[in-house]
Amino acid sequence: MTERTFSIIKPDATRRNLTGKIIDRLETSGLRIVAQKRMWLSQKQAEGFYAVHKERPFFHDLVKFMTSGPVVVQVLEGANAVAKYREIMGATDPKKANPGTIRKDFAESIEANSVHGSDSAENAAIEIRYFFADTEVVG
Ligand code: GDP
Repeated sequence: MTERTFSIIKPDATRRNLTGKIIDRLETSGLRIVAQKRMWLSQKQAEGFYAVHKERPFFHDLVKFMTSGPVVVQVLEGANAVAKYREIMGATDPKKANPGTIRKDFAESIEANSVHGSDSAENAAIEIRYFFADTEVVG
């Protein structure tokens, strides 16, 4: 089933000039980039995006990290895009991520873990709408 997911290349990855290497991984996996922009999240944007985590002890640090440098936000399209991207991203904690995954190979820590990918098609739709107008997504 063709579906869309939402991705962020996080500040630790843009800082180390890894945008292209990460894009290569996801395109090689069969996902297509149907929207993309580089931006610097405001505190408000980061807090809103991670609102589900606002009671977690790491929320403040996470917002600080996500606003510490530019990110690249993307919409990815392909067969089972949500699960496919989660698979090539690897586990949240890079120490637990499978070999060959983006987080295993690039992440610095459980927080600075290089990429975000939606965890469900429902959340993907919400997250895409948070960052992109319909006219900016070109399939
Ligand atoms: P994801 O879906 O794999 O990104 O993981 P979560 O939704 O559970 O967490 C969102 C983001 O919060 C992660 O990608 C990390 O950047 C960060 N994070 C998750 N767990 C921790 C933690 O225990 N400590 C810190 N500092 N950050 C965390």
